[in-house]
Amino acid sequence: MNQLKFTDLALAEPIQRALASQNYITPSPIQAQSIPPLLQGHDLLGIAQTGTGKTAAFSLPILHALHKSPQRTSPKSARVLVLTPTRELANQIADSFQTYGKHLKLSQALVIGGVNKNPQIRTLKPGVDILVACPGRLLDHINEGDINLNNVQHFVLDEVDRMLDMGFLRDVKKIIATLPAKKQSLFFSATLPPTIKDLAHSILQNPKTVTITPEKTTAEKVDQEVCFTDKESKNQLLLQHLNEQKGKGLTIVFSRTKHGANKICKFLNANNLVRCHC
Ligand code: AMP
Repeated sequence: MNQLKFTDLALAEPIQRALASQNYITPSPIQAQSIPPLLQGHDLLGIAQTGTGKTAAFSLPILHALHKSPQRTSPKSARVLVLTPTRELANQIADSFQTYGKHLKLSQALVIGGVNKNPQIRTLKPGVDILVACPGRLLDHINEGDINLNNVQHFVLDEVDRMLDMGFLRDVKKIIATLPAKKQSLFFSATLPPTIKDLAHSILQNPKTVTITPEKTTAEKVDQEVCFTDKESKNQLLLQHLNEQKGKGLTIVFSRTKHGANKICKFLNANNLVRCHC
């Protein structure tokens, strides 16, 4: 069977041109499965993590939709809202929209914490096509009247499991409450425990579901072993293991904290059976 190519997808010519200049030829599985239903206007539940190509999976059909129905932005509004948990992810997503949309005349704002609010307020004032935001700072802007989300037509909730781990559930729910009922919603999470499933069902209407299982992350040649022990015996057990490994090459010991790593290193050096560097 011939492999699907981006040129087989019904994406507008300026987007195809941007993809070609990035040397994107073949859609990744999440892109191949998500882009067609998204272009038809469906909601989407994507079970996938970063690295699968999910950013292009949602940004390409959204850019296509914006291009096909150009509209003047109204003041302090956005047509697209992408909510993501971290500044790094927000920056990456904003860069992707810019790269894939470089031949389209669309405006964009990045709303993240830890930086001055004023430039964000100025960018939001005339309204933007695409708004990429982290929940905390966006909620500040909503509360201060810098933006309202009544005109959002496409809503992406990205990395929902991380969002919840970081304690953003309340903020996210408050933001969702300000969105209009009629919109296309896309929901991405690497896992789908009950709380997240409930949230997805409260947002999505008759969604297409796409599940991308991550490739094996453990090297086949690595033997894995778990030892149950108490805190007091941990160092002795480690020493015993390291002595058994002696002469077989280097060993890396990971510790949760810098302080813990220092303590382990001191202990191993004091027992001068092994040489340890921190
Ligand atoms: P993401 O999972 O969206 O963070 O994407 C992971 C990386 O894969 C990014 O660096 C993208 O630029 C790249 N990428 C995404 N889709 C494709 C594709 N179809 N062909 C080549 N590279 C891609």
